[in-house]
Amino acid sequence: MNKREYDIAVIGAGPAGLTAALYAGRSMKRTLLLEAGIPGGELLNTENIEDYPGFASITGPDLASKMTEHSLSFGAELVSARVTAIDLEADGTKRIELEEGEPYFAKAVILTAGGQPRKLHVPGEQEYAGRGVSYCAVCDGAFFRGEHLAVVGGGDAAIEEAAFLTRYASKVTVIHRRQEFRAQPLLVERARQNPKMEFLLDMVVEEVKGDGERVESLRLRHLTSDRTSEFPVGGVFVFIGFLPNTGLLRMHADHDEQGYYLTDANMQTSVPGIFAAGDVRAQLTRQVTTAVGDATTAAMAATKLVESVPEPVA
Ligand code: NAP
Repeated sequence: MNKREYDIAVIGAGPAGLTAALYAGRSMKRTLLLEAGIPGGELLNTENIEDYPGFASITGPDLASKMTEHSLSFGAELVSARVTAIDLEADGTKRIELEEGEPYFAKAVILTAGGQPRKLHVPGEQEYAGRGVSYCAVCDGAFFRGEHLAVVGGGDAAIEEAAFLTRYASKVTVIHRRQEFRAQPLLVERARQNPKMEFLLDMVVEEVKGDGERVESLRLRHLTSDRTSEFPVGGVFVFIGFLPNTGLLRMHADHDEQGYYLTDANMQTSVPGIFAAGDVRAQLTRQVTTAVGDATTAAMAATKLVESVPEPVA
């Protein structure tokens, strides 16, 4: 094996990627972990985590650094590089193209590049992210006990997460840009029956405002009258879709309508030797726990596959 050839290459060092690298390294496979930014993925955007077993409360960045240290302790090599494409050589070897520098080669690839919640792109959203602006009700809802919260969006995620937030909030106002909902009618009907939920329709958020520390209000535009108004809230949860980072494969891999990869029970995509785990994979829920569990399966399956292909790559 030359220095750019690996058994297993893991693309993206969020919780799924770090776990995949841990298990692949621990299985004594020559493992490459490629990450364009700082390892940790969405953990780095999460203030506090209270639903990862073993840690009653830990900050996202702390968990990210513990996972990174643990992951690399089994021999995986972390390389800071942006992957631009993954292609297949004639013998099935995966060729990993980078933004800068020569490509890497691997017998198996585990895609753990995650994705991002779609953003509103309004003033104040970025400034107050993690300080009243959130994209994860399960992660952050408990920090808003007794508060009046806003949820932006009209799809299944917005309605379901708004209902979840009523466990903690005194009131949850769903702000949606039209009268009709993309969400299933049953979910909307249930929400309408929920005494803690209310709806503001034909409205968009134009600005998230605060005191420099925490969110205090939203500036809303009423699309029917074109008036604006100030809406006091303790926090705002944005659920207007999610954008998986699934644009790297040069070949077709089966995916669902939103672009998430479909896998078999071993986390293998429809392309032999290419596995997916975490937020790039079609699944019921996007949690740190599910990401690490699925990544474990992907790494073990990739290891078996590599061991069944003993000949050298490229
Ligand atoms: P989604 O179905 O794409 O809905 C996104 C919502 O956000 C839409 O109502 C959209 O408004 C609104 N929106 C988009 N951009 C906006 C913007 N810039 N400003 C304000 N509003 C904006 O996304 P999702 O709710 O995340 O669901 C994604 C997929 O996961 C769906 O297929 C959904 O069924 C599935 N899912 C299912 C469940 C479940 O079955 N229990 C739960 C969660 C998610 P418009 O309607 O006007 O476009």
